[in-house]
Amino acid sequence: MVEWRDQNPPPATMMIISNQVGSQFSWDLVRLQQRTLYNLFLAYSVRPVFSIVLSTSQEWRWKELLQNKRSAPLVVVQGAKLYCKSCNYGSQRLKKFRKHLSSYNHAREEGVTTVYTNVERVTADWGRNYKATPEFATAKIQVWWDMFDCPIPQGYDARQVRPSIEAAFKELGYSGPVSITAYGDHKHTPLQALSSTGVHVAHAVPGVEYKRMAGDVREWHADNPPQTAAIMMVISDNVDIISIGLVKLLQENKYNLFLAYSFRPYQMSYLLTSAEWLWESLLAGPLTKHSLLSESESSVSTAMFHCKLCRFDTISIDNFRAHLLSDEKHAQEVNSDMITEIKPESGEYRRTLNLSYDRQAFHYNSLVKASKKTTLLLQKKEKTTLQQAAQGKTAVYWDYENVPVPYDFPAETFTSTS
Ligand SMILES: [Zn+2]
Ligand SMILES: [Zn+2]
Repeated sequence: MVEWRDQNPPPATMMIISNQVGSQFSWDLVRLQQRTLYNLFLAYSVRPVFSIVLSTSQEWRWKELLQNKRSAPLVVVQGAKLYCKSCNYGSQRLKKFRKHLSSYNHAREEGVTTVYTNVERVTADWGRNYKATPEFATAKIQVWWDMFDCPIPQGYDARQVRPSIEAAFKELGYSGPVSITAYGDHKHTPLQALSSTGVHVAHAVPGVEYKRMAGDVREWHADNPPQTAAIMMVISDNVDIISIGLVKLLQENKYNLFLAYSFRPYQMSYLLTSAEWLWESLLAGPLTKHSLLSESESSVSTAMFHCKLCRFDTISIDNFRAHLLSDEKHAQEVNSDMITEIKPESGEYRRTLNLSYDRQAFHYNSLVKASKKTTLLLQKKEKTTLQQAAQGKTAVYWDYENVPVPYDFPAETFTSTS
């Protein structure tokens, strides 16, 4: 699949028929999809037990998919590849291929090729300091900064935050406008210094900030259409909490993600990042005190002040301070609103499909069949896009071992055609 993706840039379509997508390769596939987006279809005979963060265009139950096909006239497509993965042996002739499968050499090869339980991770070395492509060099950068997890460390000035982040991005070639929102208990933060560099201020209490952040991410997404190159950055030690929402956005939009945290996560996330920084090293970056002061002197405050507990917004720091002191509510912990995990809101991030469907290429491994009914099934779902000319290839990967042709399906439906 990785090879196929290299050779067939999007727009193109992949279909996987397997019960193993969740357990075996969803981690890589999710990361691959964040880098280059393909239309993805799944079929399985057993519904995955745990939810997969993979965004798909459509998922089918294997038997239901075949049932729809059953009544349709069969269309014979030529050009099936007969290939033995154990021996790297290929043949165009069924007879020869059968002979190979029953040969001694093949049996020996199968014995040597031990069954492995884990698929090698192909994207594990991805996501370290990617230089900006032209498309992203001037893209908007939105930063969500969790000050509860990543406060301003001892010895640092709040006015350093913006220039440090901008400098870190510039070093990798990203020079788009940076917007920063700082979530924290702003009764105890250097409000004046933060807002003087145009950092937006969002008042919250610990635990509530994730929910507010997730809401703001959704709002930001609504303002940035899927084809807009845009950059998200999250500064937090608990990005996992909002990662389900983020990974969907990254698979379905032209967004890049950057992270900063106060300590390195113990395992690599399925979130594909373009760069990750340690919060304190980012602030300690190559900036001199001089450049910091000259920048903050010249910048005009355009910061917004939000109280995320009672949805109060103002552009006046004095009004905001007065608001934070005005109500007993702000002194209390708002426990009712705390969350530990954000569930994806169903239908919220439905992918905008631009399905391209080439019926000729829609073949099942060596049992080559395509049917009009299958097309109709797809058509029902995506009428308008299918009326457009088909573009791009479709590859189907069928795990026959786990998702075989059901025993009660008539054999003649699946006769080989070579
Ligand atoms: Zn073989
Ligand atoms: Zn308030």
